Amino acid sequence: MAESDDRRLSTRCVHAGEIGDAHGSALTPIYPTTTFKYRSTAAILDVVEGRSSGSLYTRYGMNPTIRSVESKLASLEGAEAALVFSSGMAAETALFLALGREGVVCIGDAYGGTMELLSEQLPQLGIRTQFLLGDELDRLDACLEQGAGLVFLETPTNPALEVFPIGKIAERAHAHGALLAVDNTFASPVNQNPLALGADLVSHSATKYLGGHSDLTAGALMGSTENIGTVAGWRKNLGSTPSPETCAQLARSLHTLVVRVRHQNASARAIAEAMQGHPKVARVRYPGLPEDPGHALACEQMHGFGGMLTLELDADTDGTSAVVDRLRLFAIAPSLGGTESLVTQPVTTTHHGVSPEERERRGITGSMVRLSVGLEDPQDLIDDLCQALG
Ligand SMILES: *Cc1c(COP(=O)(O)O)cnc(C)c1O
Repeated sequence: MAESDDRRLSTRCVHAGEIGDAHGSALTPIYPTTTFKYRSTAAILDVVEGRSSGSLYTRYGMNPTIRSVESKLASLEGAEAALVFSSGMAAETALFLALGREGVVCIGDAYGGTMELLSEQLPQLGIRTQFLLGDELDRLDACLEQGAGLVFLETPTNPALEVFPIGKIAERAHAHGALLAVDNTFASPVNQNPLALGADLVSHSATKYLGGHSDLTAGALMGSTENIGTVAGWRKNLGSTPSPETCAQLARSLHTLVVRVRHQNASARAIAEAMQGHPKVARVRYPGLPEDPGHALACEQMHGFGGMLTLELDADTDGTSAVVDRLRLFAIAPSLGGTESLVTQPVTTTHHGVSPEERERRGITGSMVRLSVGLEDPQDLIDDLCQALG
């Protein structure tokens, strides 16, 4: 992979994968072209038959702007290879179709789209999917024995910020010949590197922290050259390659990833601490708090605790909505990871489609408020929460 492998993360964010041009461009140029010209049949055959690594056709990902950001993404997760996609869901779809056909075991809460894909759509193709909650991990071996090629999880989870032991789960998966894929969207490569902990693949909704400005939709998948090569064939024909323009925008955002996420980590922690003592707040879910059940594990496997936190208010669903509606700085929106702070009440958005029984089983209540902390001054955000809580 990239020559910059042993450099520190901030340096890799800026320099890894960047290519110049004949004019001395300081940044990777955008090649909007959909195809590339060759002087001879012999020269194009060298590329088609893999003897030369030239560019060919943009949907194949064989475009210098796309390859440049993939090289940077691989470097950020310490992976041999990476693929960029048109969305986080496109990355997961290609992952499950390429490497999950022998069955997928999903641990804990996952993103709504992921749950729908795994519980409703993949089974229509005859793919067996199984689900385990955090307190059912003792059943993982039994699930794997029933046949599964892939274990999938998010950590920390949405919206409960539950933390799962990546290394231990990787061991169980590997003992049964299965792969482990971790959705690292919430943590970002700044706070957690699943591959270094034993996972085989990492997926990202680059729409969130990697893009970081709520202005692009993309996804990413990182892993070994072999596994990524398998997924690449599926991406090519699913047609879920992003445009070179989006890749350039993503590369630009990655230059500031460390600065943004470290600031968001610090602000989220300050907010978690301030909210912990508030009389209207029953519980704060944030792995950075020593009282949080995931804290010890997070200290072992994370470098920072992230910019996401969930408050459980001392109010019913409607009372909680009223608090959300009084916020002025936090905008009501279901995404995360941007420069502007966002708030969502999971039962009204991300978990709206989940049945009340299933919500109860998963511990998702109407009094939960999920915050994505942006780059505003944390004191202004704390003041906003305090005025809304009244
Ligand atoms: C948003 C999100 C996704 C899906 O990503 P899109 O870019 O919206 O397709 C997957 N996983 C997590 C954890 C997310 O937050």
